[in-house]
Amino acid sequence: MRILVMKFGGTSVADPEKIQRAADRAVAARRRGRSVAVVVSAPGEMTDELLTLARRVAPEPDHRELDQLLATGEQVGISLFAMACRARGVPAVSLTGAQAGIETGGAHTRAQIVRIRTGKLLRELKAGRIVAVAGFQGVTEDQDVATLGRGGSDLTAVALATALRTRECEIYSDVKGVYTADPRLVSEARRLDRITGEEMLELAGAGAQVMQPRSIEVAERFGVSIHVRSAFHPQPGTWIVPKGDTMLEKAFVSALALDKSEVRLNVTDVPDRPGVAASVLSALAERHIPVDMIVQSAPSRAGVNAISLMTPRSFAAKAREALAPLARRLGAAVDIRDGVAKVSAVGTGFRHHPGIAARMFDTLAEHKINIHMIVASDLRISTVVDAAHGETALRALHKAYGLARKKRRA
Ligand code: ADP
Ligand code: ASP
Ligand code: MG
Repeated sequence: MRILVMKFGGTSVADPEKIQRAADRAVAARRRGRSVAVVVSAPGEMTDELLTLARRVAPEPDHRELDQLLATGEQVGISLFAMACRARGVPAVSLTGAQAGIETGGAHTRAQIVRIRTGKLLRELKAGRIVAVAGFQGVTEDQDVATLGRGGSDLTAVALATALRTRECEIYSDVKGVYTADPRLVSEARRLDRITGEEMLELAGAGAQVMQPRSIEVAERFGVSIHVRSAFHPQPGTWIVPKGDTMLEKAFVSALALDKSEVRLNVTDVPDRPGVAASVLSALAERHIPVDMIVQSAPSRAGVNAISLMTPRSFAAKAREALAPLARRLGAAVDIRDGVAKVSAVGTGFRHHPGIAARMFDTLAEHKINIHMIVASDLRISTVVDAAHGETALRALHKAYGLARKKRRA
């Protein structure tokens, strides 16, 4: 039984016609003799609409109930998908996360997949049915429905490919693959034939929506090859591949990302002594608040420091609450600034080629864009600028790095 895992995102099943087209793809694979497990997301904007609905009933909805609500979106997707397959004369069945044996741990709304009991899934596949599995959800030990965080259907797909011991996972989306920048924002962005898992992880972490970062981590760990491709065009997309030797010693920028979903958090006037950074980060970690770009520079005044970082806007209030008692104790101030954008260049070999970072800062300066924060590693340079300049920065950098031209790649 050669199993193929396919995943259709929300935009790919946004209306009845699109669901039918997606079902055609699964049916064609089944008719070619493959056993087909299809992970389906909530159609269109349904997850966002459910979130809005919840917030109209309760400003801070309870997370268990939120999971119960959000999971219904994917249930709509799978049942319609299975109906469409059956209407094409191919047996199909839909399974919720719980029915598919997806067991989760961790907190509601950002649960982790602990294991997948594949018994039922395999029985259905062996019986020749296309199995439509609800993305983004699982069930806790206590039989509560839990969701995996936004974009979590990608994670479901990769985890299923791992559990079903097939190493093939096709991610169908509204783009033709992974591009040098979001093609909705940069018209000359170019589709990459291949990108390494390492680069994809950085790109996803920098805010490129196309793949959820945790799914890439799991794919890397378990050797799953991912093919990101269009739900509406037949041609091949982008393969996310392991790092190849041939890239050794080369330095280049592969792609750019723009993230406007975060706020900048500044903790100022913190005493310059051991343990202070730890206490700031621990306060955030205890509440599972995600952070990126943690920066503390040399003290500007004797004995006093500032720690800055980025956190998703949706966690801003929680972060302020988490830091308030600590700030009082330390005599520090917490400042949260919205209206900022993170612009990142992702690639390889940046450490030994500071010219790559210099070009980024030069380009932003040429466009009179002020940089509020910089963090660089060997694989990524991220800057924080005013949100109003985000798109300009992205397009200017795309040009400056010559990303529209075909690169010599390994
Ligand atoms: P799905 O609903 O299929 O999960 P998403 O909306 O989560 O799709 O992800 C696809 C979107 O990711 C695209 O519509 C595109 O705007 C955005 N995107 C951001 N960066 C990139 C990139 N580098 N390459 C391709 N798409 C990108
Ligand atoms: N429906 C969920 C979301 O919108 C999961 C996904 O689409 O991957 O985040
Ligand atoms: Mg997605």
